[in-house]
Amino acid sequence: MSDAATKTCSKCGDVKAFDAFKKIGMQCKSCLNEMARKRYEINPERVAANSKKWRQANPEKVIANYLKWEQGNRDKRVAKQKEWAIKNRRKRAQQQSKRDGLLRKNLAESYLRNIVSRTTGIEYAVVPQALIEVKRKHLQILRKLKEKPNEQQSKNP
Ligand SMILES: [Zn+2]
Repeated sequence: MSDAATKTCSKCGDVKAFDAFKKIGMQCKSCLNEMARKRYEINPERVAANSKKWRQANPEKVIANYLKWEQGNRDKRVAKQKEWAIKNRRKRAQQQSKRDGLLRKNLAESYLRNIVSRTTGIEYAVVPQALIEVKRKHLQILRKLKEKPNEQQSKNP
């Protein structure tokens, strides 16, 4: 780093890069922040009042600052929104699959109706109740058949 790109802070005495300073002033940003923090600790009302006064006197700077902040934070915000969507999609998918599992386990009507509709081509809403009952019996029998080998195994070790 060449000397031209650095500046010495008049408060902490550190030699820092230009971007560690504001355009005006001889104190580095971390010293300025520290001073602002102390000012706020000593008299938060006055800091808030001054800040309000400044905002009222400089509405165009308020907007410019907001836009600058928004520019710098847009990527972060977009990334956060994406992360949230992915997390929630995963969560929703988990809940959905848990619910599907229960419907399947209990041979719920909606589950049976869905199967009948898919396998026969009958529209979901108009699948006859009788077909749903047949499908339930059918699946109950299939499940019983599946259980049998296990039962025999446990009976004859
Ligand atoms: Zn400093």
